[in-house]
Amino acid sequence: METFKGTKIVNGIAIGKIKLYKAPVYEISEELVSDMKAELDRYNAARAKVQEDQSALCEKEKAAGHEETAGIFDAHAAMLDDDDVIDEACKEILSEGHTAEYAVSKGCEAAEQMFLNMEDEYFRARSADVVDLKNSMLDVLFGADTSSLQGTEPAILVAEDLAPSETVKLDKSLLLGLVTRLGSSNSHTAILARSMNWPTLIQCHDIADDWDGKFAILDGYNSCIYIEPDQKIIDELSAKQAEDKRKEAELQKLKGQPSVTKDGRKVKLYANIGGPKDVKAVIENDAEGVGLFRSEFVYLNSKTDPTEEEQFKAYKQVLEGLAPRMVIIRTCDIGADKTIDYMNLEKEENPALGFRAVRICLTRTDFFKRQLRALLRASAFGNLGIMFPMIISKWEVVKCKEILNECKKELESEGVAVGKYEIGIMIETPAAALCADELAEEVDFFSLGTNDLTQYTCAIDRQSASLEPFANTHHPAVLRLIRETIEAGHRHNTWVGICGELGADPTLTEDFLKWGVDELSVNPKSILPLRGNVRNVDLSNYKTESPKAEEKHEPVQAPKQKGFFGRLFS
Ligand code: PEP
Ligand code: MG
Repeated sequence: METFKGTKIVNGIAIGKIKLYKAPVYEISEELVSDMKAELDRYNAARAKVQEDQSALCEKEKAAGHEETAGIFDAHAAMLDDDDVIDEACKEILSEGHTAEYAVSKGCEAAEQMFLNMEDEYFRARSADVVDLKNSMLDVLFGADTSSLQGTEPAILVAEDLAPSETVKLDKSLLLGLVTRLGSSNSHTAILARSMNWPTLIQCHDIADDWDGKFAILDGYNSCIYIEPDQKIIDELSAKQAEDKRKEAELQKLKGQPSVTKDGRKVKLYANIGGPKDVKAVIENDAEGVGLFRSEFVYLNSKTDPTEEEQFKAYKQVLEGLAPRMVIIRTCDIGADKTIDYMNLEKEENPALGFRAVRICLTRTDFFKRQLRALLRASAFGNLGIMFPMIISKWEVVKCKEILNECKKELESEGVAVGKYEIGIMIETPAAALCADELAEEVDFFSLGTNDLTQYTCAIDRQSASLEPFANTHHPAVLRLIRETIEAGHRHNTWVGICGELGADPTLTEDFLKWGVDELSVNPKSILPLRGNVRNVDLSNYKTESPKAEEKHEPVQAPKQKGFFGRLFS
């Protein structure tokens, strides 16, 4: 038995034979052609064919509800329209007399290099998209058969790397797991693997040709692959795989079941999301709403400050997609670990204690108003909660509400429909938790941000791995602040949720319920396990000192420009 390490992308166990996939390697001739016009026609035909294929993949993924994957192929189709790449290819063929294959390879190399030179890891990973398009065009020009890369029986697929268009063509019934030598956690293969939930390992540098056909076990939990494992490992991991399947089947049975304790106490189980692409996961995991939409991802995913219209579309998509479920959208929480170049924020000594979140919004009011107008417009399409982050004082809440009202009046005078919405704040600073009584008078709900609340209460930088020995996620001071915040909220009829990581901690579920928490908002994948925990709790012998908040809320009812790369970086 041999064991090889990699970087896990998706947990889980895959057991079976290995199928090694090698992408074709093409020799690009430098010889010149005499009929340049015919060569240009070959180039254009290949480009049109690949563009058609990418658009078809986009439609297929959209139909399957895989919005994020569909976006990858949509972007690929747009890249093939890039004027700079086309101009470069035409020059190679018409002026230099090179072949279409040479023109493709040369044109894509420049674009690939441009991405590779970027500082941002996400954009560096986009060089793989250019390579994918280059290979797809070369496949067409060389007339390669790329219909299957998997063989005929279920196997663990091992490859140097997989391009998105290769990954999406995989026959799921033949795929046990995936191992690649290259790839990053931002690569599209990783994104796809996550959305498909395949046990996956990337950066497994020891992949060798002689693995092909060998029996192996991919152990996502331990980030490794065992080649020809011994009986002990086979028995152990087969049992773990069976246990995973049993647990998964049990969890599936909880879909559609109420989140209620044995003695009948209900709690709302909501999901934390980062944008429209997560709507599917909310529905699939049967979340009852969204307790935290981190709107800053709309800003982080954009190269420029997103317009009111762009934001409105994103919020509307989520609200409409999830109506009548409640969707709580947190206003922009930029700063600290989330920085954005176009915001031109000054470098700070202590960014976590610095100019962030509502502090930026209350200073740059035009920026804030763009978001608030977008939110108010979107409120007409679902059941919205607007939540302000990083609050420490009552005046901040009053000011946020004042600006929100100003925006509402503006929209109404413009004849734009505004729906119903609730207003809430994050309780993620000790100051807010300790002043919860007076803050509760101003809002419909609180949501405890236990990640920051822990950081600020314990003075432990949440980003620092070296402080781990000092960190205690169950620090009594934090737990006391949580309990007291719930109690303070309820004294004023303000309902209280938890949207930080502690909300999903199974060892605290019973305590949170005892303290009267009204809502827990967690990663979509934690919804069903959490529902299982809640349904196992029995509070009948516990006398709640803190009455549950009365329900206050009821559900209510996207020109051809310069070129793809030009638009991306303009
Ligand atoms: C928190 O601080 O607990 C929280 C949910 O917000 P974020 O993790 O985005 O800071
Ligand atoms: Mg926070």
